[in-house]
Amino acid sequence: MQARENIRNIAIIAHVDHGKTTLVDKLLQQSGTFRDHEVVHERAMDSNDLERERGITILAKNTAINYKNYLINIVDTPGHADFGGEVERIMKMVDGVLLVVDAFEGCMPQTKFVLRKALEHNLTPIVVLNKIDRPNANPEAVVDEVLDLFIELGANDHQLEFPVVYASALMGTSSRNVEKQDDNMEALYETVVEHIPHPTENVEEPLQFLVTLLDYNEYMGRIAIGRVNRGVIRQGQPVAVMTREGAIKQARIEKLFGFQGLKRIEVEEAAAGDIVAIAGIKDINIGETIADPSKPEALPVLEIDEPTLQMT
Ligand code: GDP
Repeated sequence: MQARENIRNIAIIAHVDHGKTTLVDKLLQQSGTFRDHEVVHERAMDSNDLERERGITILAKNTAINYKNYLINIVDTPGHADFGGEVERIMKMVDGVLLVVDAFEGCMPQTKFVLRKALEHNLTPIVVLNKIDRPNANPEAVVDEVLDLFIELGANDHQLEFPVVYASALMGTSSRNVEKQDDNMEALYETVVEHIPHPTENVEEPLQFLVTLLDYNEYMGRIAIGRVNRGVIRQGQPVAVMTREGAIKQARIEKLFGFQGLKRIEVEEAAAGDIVAIAGIKDINIGETIADPSKPEALPVLEIDEPTLQMT
């Protein structure tokens, strides 16, 4: 099991087209999380046809990157205000955010919307000024604008000390220095490792897990994604599922997955602070708590205000 100190859980937030997808692709490619023969699809996170069609990312996607001894879980957020409830839920799964802002275009409505949610959840922010390669980019002015937005949104002192990474996701370069770009994403990985706190939940207590996102697979049925809030979760483990209405059902963890690159990988067990996917619990729903049957305590109910996904 990964040492808790070496885990970073972050969400990536941005206005549409500011470069989230391109950035995550580059982070994946350069981290070597992929094996040599694996090819990163043209747009790794934008794999859903409907998303392509609409040109926006509408479903959250989980990615995990290995960097040195660290495991960096990255949760993508929907780039559309209709999915505010989902953004809200994702904020509860992570300890920090990468706020990606186009160094030419500056702050846009969705920048403000997602940043507000991140600040409200007391997350540690890193600002990524992307598209620094654009000839008309104006990084200094945009950093000032971002700072004004932080102040306007009531950021706390810690959040106001946000580090800035200047990047070109397109070229795969980044730097903490506005004057010159390094030929890789190192500055961004290092900033994540240094600034984002690691998980600190209690591994010793009985299991508690909040179903935060749902996925569906025709072989495995519903897949519950979330962060282990406390304790340890194991394949085969009997659990109690607490519904939003207060009922308690008995179930079993048939299969447990962690993330690696864009894939899910089967794992025997995971612990508080890990982001995992659970298969085998029929009819599982967002907002339900999966817990140790000896201590079935529900976590606070989540707001769900987006259209319910069609689950067959
Ligand atoms: P998303 O909507 O935030 O996921 O944005 P995408 O990653 O899809 O990028 C939107 C557009 O901006 C695409 O045409 C990208 O090629 C382009 N883009 C992304 N990053 C950069 C960058 O660093 N520099 C430049 N010049 N273009 C970029």
